[in-house]
Amino acid sequence: MTPKRIVLQGVAAAPGQAIGPAHRLVAHALEVPRRSIAPRKVAAEIRRFRQALSAARREIRELRQRLATGGEDPGDQILASHLMILQDRELQREIVEAIKAERFHAPYVVRRVFQAKAHYLETLPSELFRSRAADIRDVRDRLVGQLLGRGRSSIAHVPEGSVLIASEIAPSEVASLRPERIAALVTQRGTLASHVTIMARSRGVPAVVGVGDALESVPSGEEVWVDGSSGQIVVGPNRADQRRHRHWREREARIGQWLTQRELGPGRTRDGHAIAVRANIDRPEDAALAAEVGAEGVGLFRTEFFFMDAAAFPDEETQAAAYAAVLDAFADAPVTIRTLDLGGDKHAALMGIPSEENPYLGLRGVRFTLEHPELYRTQLRAIVRAGAGRRVRILVPMIGSLDQFHQTRALLAEAREQIVAAGHAAAEIALGPMIELPSAVLMADRLAQASDFFSIGSNDLVQYLLGVDRNNARIASLFSPLDPAVLRAIALTLRHARPSAIPVGSCGEMSGELPGLLLLAGLGIDELSVAPFLVRRTKAILSQVRQRDLERMAGRCLEAEDRRAVRRIVVE
Ligand code: PEP
Ligand code: MG
Repeated sequence: MTPKRIVLQGVAAAPGQAIGPAHRLVAHALEVPRRSIAPRKVAAEIRRFRQALSAARREIRELRQRLATGGEDPGDQILASHLMILQDRELQREIVEAIKAERFHAPYVVRRVFQAKAHYLETLPSELFRSRAADIRDVRDRLVGQLLGRGRSSIAHVPEGSVLIASEIAPSEVASLRPERIAALVTQRGTLASHVTIMARSRGVPAVVGVGDALESVPSGEEVWVDGSSGQIVVGPNRADQRRHRHWREREARIGQWLTQRELGPGRTRDGHAIAVRANIDRPEDAALAAEVGAEGVGLFRTEFFFMDAAAFPDEETQAAAYAAVLDAFADAPVTIRTLDLGGDKHAALMGIPSEENPYLGLRGVRFTLEHPELYRTQLRAIVRAGAGRRVRILVPMIGSLDQFHQTRALLAEAREQIVAAGHAAAEIALGPMIELPSAVLMADRLAQASDFFSIGSNDLVQYLLGVDRNNARIASLFSPLDPAVLRAIALTLRHARPSAIPVGSCGEMSGELPGLLLLAGLGIDELSVAPFLVRRTKAILSQVRQRDLERMAGRCLEAEDRRAVRRIVVE
């Protein structure tokens, strides 16, 4: 019998497509039976629990040694925090008391107590605690796995070529995941800011997240077609799906082959119009990869991920070292470091962003850093120090008013003075806002006079312009950078920037996707910043098209009625 074809919608997290057998990552804690124990066995059961605790700690220590990345690595810091959970005396006492009082076997009690703790954390107003729930579940699974004598089905041993399906990928597991082995990744929970999403994006693994409970119905072994660009998953794809995927794969193979045969210099259209192609990176380690693929510098270094995993707010030295590592990878090309963009779905456990009804409309990006000037100053000083003698640019997220930009400029000047006063060399730094709020678009003429460059963030610009939550799978079909309203906002930004003669770049996902990048080029963008694995491809695409044609096409799209008409024009 042919399996029923089911289409599921999630959030498009990392572009690309794949078809493969599903491999479900099973958290054994979900399958623990409730088993009573005799009163005389209680002491032995408590001993068993303590042994499992020791074994789990040993397992984490060994994993840390194997990773041997040192204390500053985010993966290592997560594991260190898991050790602390396993050493939590209060939690241990609660479990021991429950085994005595309820007389259920240890795996069941451990699961229940940890579950309750995770649920409780999730209800707290403070994001500080809420973000710890995933860690609690992670440690729970490790401990229950020890008690039952079977580890969680290991993420390191996923059969080659399979589509990895999981409720969520625990932070500690990302380090063990071997992206080259998996065809695609799909998760029930998770957002665009999850660790695993970031890894998938920089390594070119197609990914869809936030699919919801419907994903539970997909068994291991079932064939699945994943489209990480649209966020769609087809379980049991039919012949037409297979054919569409085959066409996509053939086209990709042709592009791949063609790409490997070419020497690609700086980004340039066929008629010689220069458009710099830079890389988006999320971790300092990705800079080397970006340089290797020929990126003309970094167009966006999202520094928040470096902070999100940290056990403590990284001090000036630590930050300066990380920024210097990125700058070292690029001798001549500019490196754009974005100041902390916390809030929305990105939270640093230790920074205590209060829970908000509408976090995307809340204390996010520059609003947060201006509320915490000491934190902002530390970051600015670290960049000024690391950037001495280099080409460094500072990008400010979520600028919604001139005043926020002026305040940042003043803090930067202050940071520079402090660095010079301390006897260090200081960088001359270009400062620019992200254009991602409609208010920034409308004020772009005035902003341009105060800025050294602009970077358009299409991910948020689409979200705020069209009023579509970028992490909500149910309205994913409404999220489109091809909407003429978005194109008009970009055109307006470029027009406003022109009299000030500042470069305007684009660093959202639109910059690396085919219709999007052609439109951006046609509208007159100066720089495209894309995931490292898309750098060569983006340059190659530009080298095949004429700027004149793109401008004509973009002009027609600005007059189009809706996104379907835009797509038709681009396809033509
Ligand atoms: C954007 O909004 O387009 C962007 C590049 O920033 P982020 O995705 O980190 O919000
Ligand atoms: Mg953004």
